[in-house]
Amino acid sequence: PFSVSQRPDPVRAPALIRVNAALAGELGIDPQWLQSNDGVATLAGNALPEGATPVAAAYAGHQFGQFNPQLGDGRAILLGEVIDLHGRRRDIQLKGSGRTPWSRGGDGRSPLGPVIREYLVSEAMHALGVPSTRALAAVTSGEPVFRSGAEPGAVFTRVAASHIRIGSFEYFAARQDHAALQRLLDYTLNRHYPQLLPAENPALALLEAVIGALAALVARWQLLGFVHGVMNTDNMLLSGETVDYGPCAFMESYDPATVFSSIDHQGRYAYANQPAIAQWNLTRLAEALLPLIDADSDRAIELARAALEAFPGRFSAARNHGLAAKLGLASLAADQDIALGEDLLTALQADAADFTLAFRLLADEAHPAGAGTGAGALMAPGTALLEWLPRWKQRLEREGGEPAERQRRMFAVSPAFIARNHLVQRAIEQGEDGDFSFFHRMAKRLASPADWDASDTDLALPAEPQERVHQTFCGT
Ligand code: AMP
Ligand code: MG
Repeated sequence: PFSVSQRPDPVRAPALIRVNAALAGELGIDPQWLQSNDGVATLAGNALPEGATPVAAAYAGHQFGQFNPQLGDGRAILLGEVIDLHGRRRDIQLKGSGRTPWSRGGDGRSPLGPVIREYLVSEAMHALGVPSTRALAAVTSGEPVFRSGAEPGAVFTRVAASHIRIGSFEYFAARQDHAALQRLLDYTLNRHYPQLLPAENPALALLEAVIGALAALVARWQLLGFVHGVMNTDNMLLSGETVDYGPCAFMESYDPATVFSSIDHQGRYAYANQPAIAQWNLTRLAEALLPLIDADSDRAIELARAALEAFPGRFSAARNHGLAAKLGLASLAADQDIALGEDLLTALQADAADFTLAFRLLADEAHPAGAGTGAGALMAPGTALLEWLPRWKQRLEREGGEPAERQRRMFAVSPAFIARNHLVQRAIEQGEDGDFSFFHRMAKRLASPADWDASDTDLALPAEPQERVHQTFCGT
């Protein structure tokens, strides 16, 4: 079966860490209630919301390039769906809520560390304007989980536009179940792309829409230095939201070869590879959709291939548009503008400059008479950047426009605060000792990442060498 009815497995002593009151409100859930004993019991899986029929679902997926026909919610249970205040249908899922038929050897549980990481990073991404699954709540379970040693257990509540993955399509395609594939196509169009329902070729229209959504998404990741770390096809959503905050991290010094994941030995999911991997994953989606694109397989392949060929252009357009905004330009239209952007990245790499602070420094430089942000001043420009700056300033003069307004726009697209890896690590370590104050401070700070506040300078600084976190781990 594609999904089974599955109750969460209760935990011993649930205790609240944090409720996302703003998101609860958006979902029409009373945040006060969520923090009550009944609410916390629900967030821990010890009680069910009235009328809920929770399920766990199957999916397939290519993991590090290898197809696995039988994956699924091994430690997650869909509690149900709600229609939010904007009329959108949202999934509410518990993660770490016990075993399911897809747990295989796993315990279905989650340690506290991955829960804290997912909470902070997914909410940071949302605040940065990146489509993302959300964090509704985190609770501790009062039970240990055993990985390399005993760690405190926790349950995470995730909200998503849906959990339909590329791997969901691959699941039915691998079984040659075309009827189910057709139902999943119809459902996905209805839920995420209803404007495409009347399309002449709905399967092709869906493919094109997802190509556009993921091109735009990965462009956003690149512009923020976000390294997802586990871009398996089961971790790519048709909705275009970022999902699966396992070994993810934000890059500090700019280096396209950056990899954090402890299991990514070949660097398959390195920062610079993310666009190509997205296209590779979309090719797997295209393959799964082939029988629905055309009964004539040659024709289907031809149509799918043409659609996929649009990916690099769509990615570059989105990425150049975003880079232009970070440079205070309306667009990178001319070849010289594109070279200017690329040369900046080359300079940042040569200087091993902090990717985030460098753009903040540019925003300060764009209007030297302005107040500045303080964040840009946290970084001393290196020699390569100093050499590049005059070229860009000349270009800005030709751009025209009001400097103060330009600076305001640049601040808005280049955050002062990101979920820096060593800070996430600190929040985890303190949380493991039962102190969540730093986690709360970060969650609050990351909700408005563009607004400078000197009292949070320590949250804007890159890691000192001894603080640097070189490896991150899948949230198992
Ligand atoms: P992920 O790395 O989160 O994409 O997980 C890959 C697969 O392993 C998914 O099917 C998960 O549900 C499953 N999985 C990961 N951790 C656990 C666990 N602790 N218990 C059971 N299944 C797990
Ligand atoms: Mg996953």
